[in-house]
Amino acid sequence: MDAMDTRNSAPPPDESTHFLNIIQAQIARAARLVELPEHVASILSQPKNEIIVNFPVQMDDGSYRLFKGYRIQHNNIVGPYKGGLRFHSDTRLDECKALAMIMTIKCALIDIPFGGSKGGVKCDPRALSEGELMRVTRRFTHALGSNIGPEYDIPAPDVGTNAKIMVWIMDTFMNTAGTTGRNAQTRVVTGKTLECGGSQGREKATAQGLVHCLTEWARDKGTSLEGKTALVQGYGNVGSHTAMILSRMGVSIVGVGDHTGYLLNPEGFNTHRLADHVKKTGSIQGYTTNHSATRDEFFSQKADIFIPAALQNQIGEREAKLMQVQLVAEGANSPTMPEGEAVLLSRGIDIIPDILANAGGVTVSYYEWVQNGRNESWELEEVETRLEHAMKRAYRRVTNYADERSCSMRDAAYGLALLRIKQIYEQRKIFP
Ligand code: GLU
Repeated sequence: MDAMDTRNSAPPPDESTHFLNIIQAQIARAARLVELPEHVASILSQPKNEIIVNFPVQMDDGSYRLFKGYRIQHNNIVGPYKGGLRFHSDTRLDECKALAMIMTIKCALIDIPFGGSKGGVKCDPRALSEGELMRVTRRFTHALGSNIGPEYDIPAPDVGTNAKIMVWIMDTFMNTAGTTGRNAQTRVVTGKTLECGGSQGREKATAQGLVHCLTEWARDKGTSLEGKTALVQGYGNVGSHTAMILSRMGVSIVGVGDHTGYLLNPEGFNTHRLADHVKKTGSIQGYTTNHSATRDEFFSQKADIFIPAALQNQIGEREAKLMQVQLVAEGANSPTMPEGEAVLLSRGIDIIPDILANAGGVTVSYYEWVQNGRNESWELEEVETRLEHAMKRAYRRVTNYADERSCSMRDAAYGLALLRIKQIYEQRKIFP
C-alpha cells in the first residue's frame, strides 16, 4: 500500500467525535429545512474559536499536576458567547465543540441575545479536595485570561460545576482586571450564589423550564401531570430539581439512576430525602438497599415520562426499543442518539428536544446577566413569571412549526433557531 494512503488505516472516530458529527448533521438537516444559505451553514459547521489551555496546579500533597482545559466559542452573531463549563474526566475537545454548537442553537431558539460556547477541564471534581478544586478553577480562569469577559464570553455551571465554582471564577477574573473596572466584571459568569450576584430561581431554572414544557405537553394531550409517573436518569442539579418539582405536582418518581446505578420503586421515591442524600454523599448509592435495578430494568420500566438528565448519548437503538413511556423530555444535552430517536418516533413516543426542554437554565442566566448589568435584584416571582412566559412561548412556536412543516420537534426547534440566525446574517452580511 502507498505509504500516504491512509484510507483504510484511519482510527475509528472516538465517542466525542461521533457526538460532534451527530450535532453537525442535525444542524445541516435543519439548514436544508429552512433553506439556510450555504455560506451560513458552513460557518455554523465549525466553531469560531477553539481555545485549549494546559496549566499547572499544586496538589495538597505538594506535587504539581498539569490540567487541560477547553473553551470553545462557536458563534456570536446573536450576542456574546454563552455556555457552561464542564468538569469531568471524559471532557474532550470535540465534546465541547458539539455542546457549544447546541448552545448557539438553544439561545437563538429561546430568543435571548447570546451566542454559543462551552468549555471545561478534564478532571474528576469528586477526586479533588475543596482546596484543589479552587486552585484548578482559579488557574483555569487565569489561563483563559481575556478569552472570557462580561460582554464577550460568559461561562455558567454545567456537569461537575456549581455556583461555588462560578464565584471563584468571578473572583479570579475581578482580581486580575484593572483596579477601577473591577466591579463591572461580576457578570463574567452566571449561575453564581445569591450572595455574590446570582439570580433568584437560577439553581432550579433548568428543571423549572423543563416542567413548563411537560405541562404544555400534557395540556396538548388533554390531560394534566397529576397522577403521572416518571423515570429520572441523573440526580444532579437538573434531575433532582425536576424530580422535586414534579413530585410536588403529584407526579410519582418511580425510578432514578446515576453513575453509581439504578433504583426502581413503584410506590415512588421521596425525592427531597433522596436529594439530601445525594448532597451529603455525592450519589444515589446507599440511599436504600431494597430497590436496586439494572440499567436494562430501568430503561424497560413502564412509566408516563422519561427524563434523561445525565450525560449525552444515553438512548441508543437498544434503549429506545426497551422503553415503555409516552414521552422523553431531554433535561441533559443530546441524551438521545439519532438511531434511538428514529425508534422512539416510530413507536409513537414523543420527544421534547434538549434545546427546548433544558433552555430554562440559560434563560435565567440571561436574567442574572441583565440584573448584574443594571445593579438590580429581581424577586423570585418576577424571574418565574418571565421564565414561564419564555418557555411556553418557545414550546408553542416549536409545536406549531413542527405541525406546519410535518417534521419532528427537534427539527422544528433547530429550524426556528436557524431562521433567527439566518435573518441576522442576511442583514449584517459578512465582514469586510
Ligand atoms: N450549562 C447549561 C446549558 O447547557 C446552562 C448554560 C448557561 O447558563 O450559560 O444550557
